[in-house]
Amino acid sequence: VSRVWNFSAGPAALPEEVLREAAAEMLDWHDAGMGVMEMSHRGSEFVSIAAQAEADLRELLAVPPNYRILFMQGGAIALNAIIPLNLLGDKRVADYVVTGAWSQKSQKEARRYGEVNIAASTEASGFTSVPAAAGWRLSDDPAYVFVCTNETIDGVEFPFEPDLAAMGRAEVPLVADMSSHILSRVIDVSQCGLIFAGAQKNIGPAGLTLVIVREDLLGRAMPHCPTAFDFKVVAEHHSMYNTPPTYAIYIAGLVFRWLKRQGGVAAIEARNVAKARLLYDFLDASEFYGTRVDPACRSRMNVPFFLRDETLDDAFLAEAKAAGLVQLKGHKSVGGMRASIYNAMPLAGVEALVAFMRDFAARRG
Ligand SMILES: *Cc1c(COP(=O)(O)O)cnc(C)c1O
Repeated sequence: VSRVWNFSAGPAALPEEVLREAAAEMLDWHDAGMGVMEMSHRGSEFVSIAAQAEADLRELLAVPPNYRILFMQGGAIALNAIIPLNLLGDKRVADYVVTGAWSQKSQKEARRYGEVNIAASTEASGFTSVPAAAGWRLSDDPAYVFVCTNETIDGVEFPFEPDLAAMGRAEVPLVADMSSHILSRVIDVSQCGLIFAGAQKNIGPAGLTLVIVREDLLGRAMPHCPTAFDFKVVAEHHSMYNTPPTYAIYIAGLVFRWLKRQGGVAAIEARNVAKARLLYDFLDASEFYGTRVDPACRSRMNVPFFLRDETLDDAFLAEAKAAGLVQLKGHKSVGGMRASIYNAMPLAGVEALVAFMRDFAARRG
């Protein structure tokens, strides 16, 4: 087996150890005589797999007991609709902080279900920073405040945990799209009313969407919210109201166990800091490459960068691929390059990237 360094933004690289475990258990999981994909979601084997995954995630993120963990489907984009359908309740308006392509998409979708107040936006300055919470213009009585704490496309990550209580708005739930940096850093779940994440960045296979929701926010769904997307129904049925994405939950469970073996979230965060520093320090010292994001808000997970001479872009990508470094093309809305360096990317992968970039610049600069 010969594996490349995969810098895909998502679906993204998984820990090799996890893939090997899944391969070994593919035909026969723990003497069940069948693989996980073939199991009834109501059988004792799969119920134990899902319960262990949930318990490990709860431990990794120190999820308080008054929060429910839901394994859902539809991806983060479906959650853009499912959240207003569940949380608007009898309120008229929800507040959105727009810091990049993903939160922009979220606020547009929410307008189909209620009124949206843009509390802050960095669109005019090209989505390269996070607006200080002190300047957010919250509405009088919002159902919730929505943020995307790591903008995967723009490479902008919140350098602070928004604290609505400190802003005198403790009663307003904070809703956070953490799709592309969940489990990459220590967070205080209790600051949020709801956290959600598509699995395919930092958790596991596409098809699983994780929701962590405070119990008092259950039971507010609009009458026309699909039953399968009503958080209260999903919680009451332990994520098995409908057939959940069983194999994706199993792989996510293996990733959670792998994370625990790495020393947990604080340990992986320290490695993520080192990986990101290596790449950003190299970019900062370079006259051949550049990056546009405010240094205070640079994402540790998604690093957009560009070649100052963009006529070299195609050659850069072709030579990188030949060197075993793939999926480096930037998102079309930003251009240039993007290296996604999630939990599963080891330091050696970032070292290989920097070595290639240094060599390319020396030859072409
Ligand atoms: C990838 C991503 C999404 C979209 O996820 P889907 O699974 O395609 O619905 C939404 N938000 C963020 C921050 C993402 O990184």
